[in-house]
Amino acid sequence: MTCSACGATPLVHWQRRLTDAELADYIGLEQARRDEQILLADPQQATPVFGPLPTAADVTRAVHACGQHAIGMNAAALIHAKTCTAPNPATLPACNCTPEPAPPPEPAPTASPLPVSWGGTGGA
Ligand SMILES: [Zn+2]
Ligand SMILES: [Zn+2]
Repeated sequence: MTCSACGATPLVHWQRRLTDAELADYIGLEQARRDEQILLADPQQATPVFGPLPTAADVTRAVHACGQHAIGMNAAALIHAKTCTAPNPATLPACNCTPEPAPPPEPAPTASPLPVSWGGTGGA
């Protein structure tokens, strides 16, 4: 692993989508793995059943960067476009893509009210 901008030892990384070629490779490998499992499967047993093949939305790849080419911590928390590379120092601290928006935050669990004997409202 090296920084994708300069080849130095990476300090940080973030996720990006796979390019079309990478995704085709990835799905090809997955298909080959499944074909092999079917070939090796015990004929006395049920044929292995697989879920749908992965799509672009299921897989990410890491972009590595050294300290000089790192993006901001907030940006690194997002999933970046397939073209994303470590940013050019001239355009720091942004990378060259528009990251996907962050998933909506988990709704806070609604706590049950404490019973009256514990100093709560008892739900009233
Ligand atoms: Zn670098
Ligand atoms: Zn990016």
